[in-house]
Amino acid sequence: TNSTNPPSEKGSVRVAVRVRPLNSVEKSSCGKSCVTVQPPDTVILGKDKSFTFDYVFGPEKGQSEVYEQVVRPLVDGIFMGYHACLFAYGQTGAGKTYTMGTTWYKGSISTNHGMIPRVINDIFERAKSEMTAYDISIRVSFIEIYNEDIHDLLKFYPSSGNVLLNSNQKIGIREDEFGNVCVTGVHEEPVQSYEEAMACIESGSLHRATAAHDMNQQSSRSHAIFTIIFTKSEKGQEGIASKVTSQFQLVDLAGSERAKRTNASGARLKEGISINVSLLALMEVISVLGDEQKKGSHVPYRRSKLTRILTNSLGGNSRTAMIACISPSDDSFQETLNTLKYAHRAR
Ligand code: ADP
Ligand code: MG
Repeated sequence: TNSTNPPSEKGSVRVAVRVRPLNSVEKSSCGKSCVTVQPPDTVILGKDKSFTFDYVFGPEKGQSEVYEQVVRPLVDGIFMGYHACLFAYGQTGAGKTYTMGTTWYKGSISTNHGMIPRVINDIFERAKSEMTAYDISIRVSFIEIYNEDIHDLLKFYPSSGNVLLNSNQKIGIREDEFGNVCVTGVHEEPVQSYEEAMACIESGSLHRATAAHDMNQQSSRSHAIFTIIFTKSEKGQEGIASKVTSQFQLVDLAGSERAKRTNASGARLKEGISINVSLLALMEVISVLGDEQKKGSHVPYRRSKLTRILTNSLGGNSRTAMIACISPSDDSFQETLNTLKYAHRAR
């Protein structure tokens, strides 16, 4: 649809594994680490379960290192007209939200800021330097998928003014005549600065559904998708010929732990099932797209809301990366093994 967008690149997903440090509870209960990182790209679980990825980050690696290696190339792509998709996968408590950075809003970029603030910061910095030659506009949206229902986390944003306007719209997923999939009825906030975008994240994060269950009080049972819509056109050039629109979807996936492990029943069990369905669908989509031999075969986007919403960002004209987050703790051995297997299949 965008005549100046570049052709697609090889469709595979870059996969990084990030090991968080042992936390104080794990340390005080004499928890031992069962994960060894072998730079630059290998992680060993237990004695001999070895997995190789595109990148591996040990507990001592900071947010900026993860950003520079895994995420910055996606931002570069945005300015060239590629879509981008970054998602964090892993069991609850493994570091997904910390890595994505939706809980750390205060101030300009510092050590603890995760990927989303860094992406926003980078985009605005670079936009500034291109402002003389281009008209650039940036909008953001923030949704979550919970039990296959889509919720608009910016529905009440800004807190005064157009509340009614936003909340009356019905949310749906549509496909236009060019095959672009978009979510309709969701508020898209135009933002002019890092601060304005971060205010949206802060407001949206407060609305994320959380429910207590055995494993973690604050466990997130929903997928949160923060989308940056970036439009760039040459100054003085009317019409769509010079216009490039890219979207960057940043996804904090629901915890990947199995429903049975947390003794779930009733509503919690239902949550667990819908989470498993969407994470499996995501894997299938990624593996079809990444496999040269499966080129041209059917991509099962329609199997879940998650994969439908990510259609544009996962297919052809996009750069995709996944950060699989793991705990080093012995107690999490089985879940860590599941995460490493999932991440390895995605390559
Ligand atoms: P998840 O979103 O996967 O459930 P969180 O991101 O909430 O997990 O992480 C659980 C806890 O571990 C949080 O207190 C978080 O601050 C901490 N944590 C996670 N990853 C790291 C890291 N790489 N360095 C330091 N602390 C971390
Ligand atoms: Mg979380």
